[in-house]
This record gives sequence, C-alpha cells and structure tokens, in this order.
Amino acid sequence: MESREVEVAGWRKVVHFADHQTGLNAIIAVHDATLGPACGGCRIRPYETFDAALDDVTRLSRGMTFKNALGGIPFGGGKAVIIADPKTEKTPEMMRAFGRAVESLGGLYYTAEDSGVSEHDMEIVHSVTKYVAGISQKGVGGNPSPFTARGVWRGVQAAAHSKFGLTSLKDVRVAILGVGAVGMALAELLHEEGAHLVVADVNEAAVKEAVKRFGARAATPEDCVAADVDVFSPCALGGAINKNTIARLSAKIVAGAANNQLLTPEMDKALFDKGVLYAPDYVINAAGVISVGLEIMGGWSEAELTRRIDAIGPRLTAIFERSLRDNRPTGEIADEMALDVIAKAKRAA
Ligand code: NAD
Repeated sequence: MESREVEVAGWRKVVHFADHQTGLNAIIAVHDATLGPACGGCRIRPYETFDAALDDVTRLSRGMTFKNALGGIPFGGGKAVIIADPKTEKTPEMMRAFGRAVESLGGLYYTAEDSGVSEHDMEIVHSVTKYVAGISQKGVGGNPSPFTARGVWRGVQAAAHSKFGLTSLKDVRVAILGVGAVGMALAELLHEEGAHLVVADVNEAAVKEAVKRFGARAATPEDCVAADVDVFSPCALGGAINKNTIARLSAKIVAGAANNQLLTPEMDKALFDKGVLYAPDYVINAAGVISVGLEIMGGWSEAELTRRIDAIGPRLTAIFERSLRDNRPTGEIADEMALDVIAKAKRAA
C-alpha cells in the first residue's frame, strides 16, 4: 500500500492511502489530537475528485474535534473517507486494506461507522486493527438512535426551560421533521411527557405510525417547518435551516438530531436575530460519539452512558446562558466553548 502525507494547514495529520491490489483509495484526516486520539467515522462515497474527498474529510474531521470536545470525552477530531461506490465497489479486501491504513497510524485515529459502512464492514476492519469503535462483540455497537433521541429530548427540555421558563414539556408543541430511527424514538419520549406533536416524513408509513402511536398531527415536510408550534426539531437530513425555512419558521426553538442543520454558518446568526433559540446540532446529537468514546475508554455501561447523555441538557443550558449574556448566537458560543476545552487541555499538558 502506498501512503503519502498531504499538507493541510491547521490539521495535525492528513494521509492519502492507495492500494492497487484492493482498489482502496482513502484519506484519513486527524484535525486535532490534544484531548486524546482522534475519533470519527469512515464514510464511503464515490467522490468525483480527490479534492472533493479531501474537502469533505477535512471539514468533517474538524467538526469531530468540536463534537468530541463538547461531548466531554477525551478524544480529538478525525475522520476517514474511502473514494468508492459502497454499493458496487466495496469489498472485504478493501475494508481489510482500510484497516491496515488505520493500524499504520498507530492509534492516532480510531475509526467507526458512517454512511456507506456497515457494522459488518467494521468487524472486517477490526480483524486487522484494534483502533475501531462500535463493534458489537464489545457489547456496545448496535443501534445508537435511542441514545441520540434521549440526548435530543434532554436538549429540548433545556431549551424550553431557557426560552419559556418551563420545567416540563407538558402541552409544549413540537414539530418533528423526519420520524426515522431517532425522530420516532424522540416522538415517543416527548409524547410520554405530554407534548403535542406534528410530524412529517417522506415515508408515509412512518408518519402513519406516529399518528397512531402518539396522536401526532401529520404535515407535509414543507408545512412542518412553518407549523404553529413552540419547537421545530429537524431529524431528517442536513440543511433544514436555510434562508427560505427561517423566513417561514414560527417555532421559537430549533432543537433536533440532524447533522449539519444549518445550510450555511450564517444561519446561526439569522436564527439568533429572529429570536429563535438554536440548540447547536453537534452538542444536542452527541450521544453516539459519547457512547463510542466510553467504549474506547473501556468504561461503557448503560448507566454511565445515560448519565453522560443527560449532561447534554446542562451543557446546552450553559451555552444558552452565555449566548444571552454576551448577546451572541449559540452556535458561535458552542464553538468557542469547544476551543476553550482544547486550549485548557493544551495549557495543562
Ligand atoms: P433515519 O434514516 O432512520 O431517519 C431519517 C428520516 O428522515 C427517515 O424516516 C426519512 O424517510 C426521513 N427523510 C428523509 N428525507 C426527508 C425529507 N426531505 N423530508 C422529510 N423527511 C425526510 O436516520 P436517523 O438515524 O433517524 O438520523 C436522523 C438524523 O440524525 C440524520 O441527519 C443523522 O445524521 C442524525 N444523527 C443520527 C444519529 C443516530 O444515532 N442515528 C446520531 C447523530 C446524528
């Protein structure tokens, strides 16, 4: 296998791996490793160019630095991409070659599942390197969505308290865009607490299920964002918050599970200017990385995970309070708090 380091200013290490025998063409990016080894998933996608893959892996690895730092786990930010079509080009040999690439970094980077990668693929990677998280044999693995839903539920509670002074979600109106694995589990938690739900999904069966189980009102995805509710919860794809949807938003809180909810970084200030309290996505949806972090640390138990997931609420409260005090958007505050955590660790080292 050939490997070559790619210089990216501000990144700890970025390496391109090419293995002609198996067709592996991968980039591993370690953005920061101050808090501990870099940790983040591996994504397989048929990127059109090397530069497109490099852009994605650098952007995502930087995001992981922030997410892990505010998740309260001692890990830095990293990510891997494999340039291939996961449906037609992925092979066990390719995954093994990827495992060798991970192993060659000697523990600087831990990998995990991301889009295009299955648990089975990670088991193959694990046969070559121990630097893998989310493996079911260790008793963790499995589906993280109930945990993620719990973190989002705690986040909605914290936001409702900060914005409306509420200590319960009883009679709070929440619109959930995307009732998939996380959205449906969130709907259940909210329903149990007495919230009134509006749900939307491109999958009609999922909408029907939520209507039946939780007495939710069905809406189209277009109407969901403009629904007359207190909380809008994006739980489908990224980019739900954009110029167009902000103009139509009537909720005073945005708090959901989706990654990259803001189409562009400016949407953070646009929400703030409109008086909408935004729970930064990477803070509220961090349960999965917290679980992975605990697994690597060897201290995974459901009780400890639940304790750490429940800490997402107070963490968001601290962000909301600083935002109010400094009159600055919550996303900006979250980034600053993550950088503070890293700077503090650097000073202590
Ligand atoms: P999922 O695929 O199970 O659910 C997504 C749902 O959104 C599906 O029901 C899908 O039909 C629906 N959807 C897709 N496009 C839509 C559209 N245009 N309009 C309305 N609905 C649409 O995924 P999930 O695991 O529930 O994850 C949801 C989001 O949360 C994703 O953005 C994911 O990256 C993020 N997230 C998930 C986890 C986790 O633990 N699963 C952790 C962190 C972040």
